[in-house]
Amino acid sequence: MKTNEFEQLNIGKEILKVIEELGFEAPTPIQAQAIPLVAEGKDIIGQAQTGTGKTAAFSIPLIEKVDMGQKGVQILILTPTRELAIQVADEIRRFSKYLKGMRSLAIYGGQPIERQIKALKQGVQVVVGTPGRVIDHIKRKTLRLDHIKGLVLDEADQMLDMGFLEDIEMILNETPEDRQTLMFSATIPKEIEMIAKKHMKKPEKVKVVHKEL
Ligand code: ADP
Ligand code: MG
Repeated sequence: MKTNEFEQLNIGKEILKVIEELGFEAPTPIQAQAIPLVAEGKDIIGQAQTGTGKTAAFSIPLIEKVDMGQKGVQILILTPTRELAIQVADEIRRFSKYLKGMRSLAIYGGQPIERQIKALKQGVQVVVGTPGRVIDHIKRKTLRLDHIKGLVLDEADQMLDMGFLEDIEMILNETPEDRQTLMFSATIPKEIEMIAKKHMKKPEKVKVVHKEL
């Protein structure tokens, strides 16, 4: 067993077991740097190229903050595309395999909204969604964000390129101010600095330059 380096990151045994099953030998650099900061409750801007394990870098420490006894949505992850929403939700489901009562859901356009509404009604703690569909649910009052403690903007630069800036700001304004906010991006353009300044609390920058896995 070579989960030692992950153990040093203070990850709970339920997730360590999954990491072992997946055969991850060691955390990637972005994971090694980001996981302890996220666990501490810091806001972070993580910059690392595609394929460097950013999903696990935010998913692992955030999943551990979920209160399984509470049914409301506690973690919201925004992604630019439906494919990415599905992919991130799948990864979260994989990591929370041994966490009883942890429920996650992907919500995105192109899928009948009724199905998502039904799933949301059953109580999910982690939602991964595209900005447009998330706003749709907010307007229908089928998604309440007043118990959000962690919010992630995944592939933030791509979301801005796709014109989601206003949507993102609207969603941020629907969540409690004392939430933890994380941003992950391959590049950090001006608009990202602007969002960080306006919506994050002393964000720490975690920048990693390295090869793909
Ligand atoms: P990014 O979001 O940075 O583009 P992903 O989070 O999608 O990258 O990760 C890319 C791939 O690497 C995924 O298949 C993921 O399961 C795998 N991966 C993540 N972390 C590790 C690790 N520590 N060891 C081995 N593989 C990993
Ligand atoms: Mg990613």
